Amino acid sequence: MNCWIKGAEDTDFSIHNIPFGIFSAEGRSPRIGTAIGDQVMDLKVAAILSIFDELAIPLPIWEEDTLNNFIGLGKAVTSRARQIIQEELCNEESVLRSNDQLFVPMSECTMHMPVQVGDYTDFYSSIEHATNVGKLFRDPENALLPNWKHLPVGYHGRASSIIVSGQDIIRPKGQTKPPEGAPVFGPSKRLDYELEMGFIIGKNSNLGSGVPVNDAEDYIFGKVIFNDWSARDIQKWEYVPLGPFLGKNFASSISPWVVTLDALEPFRTHGPLQDPAVLPYLQYDGQRNFDIKLEVGITPDGGQENIVCRSNFKYMYWNMSQQLAHHTVNGCNVKVGDMMASGTISGKDENSFGSMLELSWAGKKPVTLNDGSTRSFLADGDTVTMRAHCQQGNIRVGFGEVRAQIKPAINA
Ligand code: MN
Repeated sequence: MNCWIKGAEDTDFSIHNIPFGIFSAEGRSPRIGTAIGDQVMDLKVAAILSIFDELAIPLPIWEEDTLNNFIGLGKAVTSRARQIIQEELCNEESVLRSNDQLFVPMSECTMHMPVQVGDYTDFYSSIEHATNVGKLFRDPENALLPNWKHLPVGYHGRASSIIVSGQDIIRPKGQTKPPEGAPVFGPSKRLDYELEMGFIIGKNSNLGSGVPVNDAEDYIFGKVIFNDWSARDIQKWEYVPLGPFLGKNFASSISPWVVTLDALEPFRTHGPLQDPAVLPYLQYDGQRNFDIKLEVGITPDGGQENIVCRSNFKYMYWNMSQQLAHHTVNGCNVKVGDMMASGTISGKDENSFGSMLELSWAGKKPVTLNDGSTRSFLADGDTVTMRAHCQQGNIRVGFGEVRAQIKPAINA
């Protein structure tokens, strides 16, 4: 594809991507845009120029402050809209070329939450992460619990505290249990991130009927980078027997551009062999994992960034289709805008561990940063940045980043 916007090719937002997001800028209320290179394209302006006329999309949809209603038009419409944008950006005669209101430099835009998230579920689908956490929190000899290879373990999270990249994270306070003595209350001393990816539901399913594993991708609109902030000391004391609660629900951060499954098509790959064989409702056809390169950087206040982890989404033991089939197999329905996060994405090597808990082995092996300071967990003032991109020959499709800075606990 030969795009008349120059300089986009080697960026996350090449012509092969065309993600969707919500932006605002001087004189522009929050609305739907796409990213191309370092520019944001105002899709309301593009719609007024009639490029989407064949789709009969009501004009006000482009000026809504979430993507929910746009996504709800269905993939036949949204996939074609993306294709039209690609065609116009490659058409030297395009009507878009003569309009000076169409593009805004990304640096002048504010990005907003792309969707209103109704429900949020967090899975636990990396075998390396689940094994590491099992060793650290429970039993080094039997790290994986007996159910883990038979079903994609998950829990229902909190949608209200999912926030967009750039918003600060306030260190949570809570109840923790020192090794000796009674529980105490105070700011978390073990604040951590989790490197995850989220997928956004693009189609409602019916209460009482499940989504078959081989149809699951019809219900997935696209993906974002997802940082599932975690307070390990609060988590460790509270999680038995019902699982994560206040150690998790104080915040989760996402990247602002939703990369469609269409854009990820060239990056499909096989997942790890599942042994023992899974039950029939979890058996899928084809390639359902995606080769998405991931990295995490920690930047101390006023300092330089340190890349502390490089991982890959393709390591996931349970794929998105299996997660969605399992989530709905009991009749639970999903709705447009729901968010499903993967679980921390760790690889086999120590430098591919997707959380500080694993990197510092629960504080036993602190990580040394390039300014000489060490971290077992995050310090106030630290900024955590996660990036994700796919590369296949000359084709690059990326997610940009999700970034947030840690602020001290309130009235600490
Ligand atoms: Mn998580």
